[in-house]
Amino acid sequence: LPLNFSAGPAALPPPVLAQAQEALVNFRNTGVSVMEVSHRSPEIEDLLAETVERSQRLLGLGDEHEVLLLQGGGSLQFVMVPLNLSGVGDRVDYVDTGYWSSKAIAEARTLARDVAVVADSAGDGYRSVPPVEKITARPDSRYLHLVTNNTVEGTQFRRAPRVSVPVVADMSSDLMSEPFAASEYDLVYAHAQKNIGIAGLTLVVLRRSLLAGVPDGLPAILNYRTHATHRSNYHTPPTFAIYVTCQMLRWLAQENGGLAGTAERTRRKAELLYDFLDTTPFYRCPVEPDSRSRMNVVFTPTCPELLGPLLDAATRADIIGLAGHRSVGGCRASIFNGVSTQAVRQLVDFLHDFAHEHGT
Ligand code: PLP
Repeated sequence: LPLNFSAGPAALPPPVLAQAQEALVNFRNTGVSVMEVSHRSPEIEDLLAETVERSQRLLGLGDEHEVLLLQGGGSLQFVMVPLNLSGVGDRVDYVDTGYWSSKAIAEARTLARDVAVVADSAGDGYRSVPPVEKITARPDSRYLHLVTNNTVEGTQFRRAPRVSVPVVADMSSDLMSEPFAASEYDLVYAHAQKNIGIAGLTLVVLRRSLLAGVPDGLPAILNYRTHATHRSNYHTPPTFAIYVTCQMLRWLAQENGGLAGTAERTRRKAELLYDFLDTTPFYRCPVEPDSRSRMNVVFTPTCPELLGPLLDAATRADIIGLAGHRSVGGCRASIFNGVSTQAVRQLVDFLHDFAHEHGT
């Protein structure tokens, strides 16, 4: 089987794929496909409730949080966040850590009049994240937004900034990879196609108290309150994507020791790769050690002419998704929840052999 290090849609664990395959033809012994069952049926209502409950349990959420199952990916949240959490003329604050945060900022600027970038790492080419203790927000800002794991640059925050305004985080590429610090965030969102399933579903976790402040007059589909009131069944939900996430959450809880066990596995996989890269002069990892992502390991051969041959050799070895994002080049190994520790070991062996054959 190919080893898949793609940044998203990302690899899925084989047991989850097998369950998805079964549900395509026979969903929970109904005899019909999960794609054919009415979204108003008790089976799908149960599936939605189970997915929300599993998320709450894994993330350690209490009654003060709402979990919404939405569509539109991370990109729609770049829009829904400013629409729902700010009004005309309000101030909103953002941390700029590269590609995806810039997209979030650009969307906010279409909706809010006063968008400030209160911290950024542009100065070092986004090879680090700003130190959280130095991040402040304007006291009258409606929220502070950050991207906790920067999928493109391979950087990651270790904790949330402590500020006096609500903290909003795009966790598309690291939610459910380690225990969730529920008290440090007020709203987080994550599309499913990296750590918790497939494209089509986006998880939004927010404090219920924020719902009361959503401005009136928003289109219903873009209003978090609509989805909370209708328990994520306001319009036809992506039932197959939700099923896959439900099975992923079950797999994380039952076969990975919950998020504590998952974090341990995540740490081990990242260490295997970074330790190898740091001790092999043939390769270079441009990201500052304190900011390195445990999800996306960005690196390059020290000799740039060997990048093409390395990626070609990877393809021949059935290793897919190793090319860096088109905006930065180089290599990137994405090691989300669906990637096994064994697959990472095999990648290290491949990189080791390539270095041995071509270099120093
Ligand atoms: N945020 C982050 C951190 C991402 O990595 C991505 C895409 O990879 C997005 C947002 C955009 O998500 P989507 O393609 O679901 O709109």
